[in-house]
Amino acid sequence: MQIIDRPTDKMRKVVRIFCVSIIFNFQFSIFNSVTAQDSSYVRRVICDLSAPEMFGRGMQNRGDSIAAEYLRQELRALGVKPLGKDYFQYFRFPNTRTTPPIVKAGYRSQNVCGYIPGETDTMIVFTAHYEHLGMHGDTIFYGAHDNASGTAAVLDLARLVGSGQWVVDSIRGQVLPTTNYPLSTKYTYVFLFFGGEESGLVGSAYFADIPLIKMNKVKFLMNIDLFCGGDDGLMIVNANAPETKPYVDLLEQLNNERHYAAKIGRRDNAANSDHWHLSKQCPAVFIYTLGGPFGGYHSPTDTCEGCGLGNYNNFMTLLKTFLEHIEQ
Ligand SMILES: [Zn+2]
Repeated sequence: MQIIDRPTDKMRKVVRIFCVSIIFNFQFSIFNSVTAQDSSYVRRVICDLSAPEMFGRGMQNRGDSIAAEYLRQELRALGVKPLGKDYFQYFRFPNTRTTPPIVKAGYRSQNVCGYIPGETDTMIVFTAHYEHLGMHGDTIFYGAHDNASGTAAVLDLARLVGSGQWVVDSIRGQVLPTTNYPLSTKYTYVFLFFGGEESGLVGSAYFADIPLIKMNKVKFLMNIDLFCGGDDGLMIVNANAPETKPYVDLLEQLNNERHYAAKIGRRDNAANSDHWHLSKQCPAVFIYTLGGPFGGYHSPTDTCEGCGLGNYNNFMTLLKTFLEHIEQ
């Protein structure tokens, strides 16, 4: 029943992941000055996570755990090191819910956590919730926009940082030999994929209570949730706090110079995604796209096919440029 857990399919998948990463690494070493994010990787991850075999990534058929295992394999393939118990931080749902996401009190799920060490233990953190509403009867809530898209973007950032070359070359202006990779960044990069978001930020609240990293060492945290579409630009939540404003100002300044997004909107802080609990402990923002195309919101129509990625490369180039400035 859980098709992706069959050994043969699993092996095929692992081989596919390795082939893909070899091809990408090759591209990075040849076309380093470009390092444009390839949206075909992100499309593949979004479609995998929102496939029927993930059952909407909720409690039904343990779809959340199938998705978590997928992320663990992906992080391994990208060379991201584990946090927690082999990438997992387990937690239990405190309350029963009878409407999607339907969940029983005591049901066990997990956050998926990894990092790429830098030259210092000061951290840049990216987060995204990977679970979704699961199933209601026979109806699957696929959750491509919410939030297979943000999950895929955070994996893509891990892929970028893990390539090891981009920051060093672009900032220090050095031409480096294609040996001795990966080269490290100044900061340590942490990638957190939360469960239980749709049930009330359960996974990220658990992480905030029992963090696997030193939260006072986090320089900046960005949570990505809803990343398909974006024809009207990007919105940043918690953009006006004294500790986050300089970062959002930088993003806006870079965007004004190079017009990656139609606009960058700003909102005050709100408990509307996984940055919320963590924003009490470090500078944390939540970024989401404005405008379509995407298939739907909290609807069975939120499919991979409906997820527009026409703006994706521009958004990722903006984030990459932003990180290059932070690394300086
Ligand atoms: Zn969401």
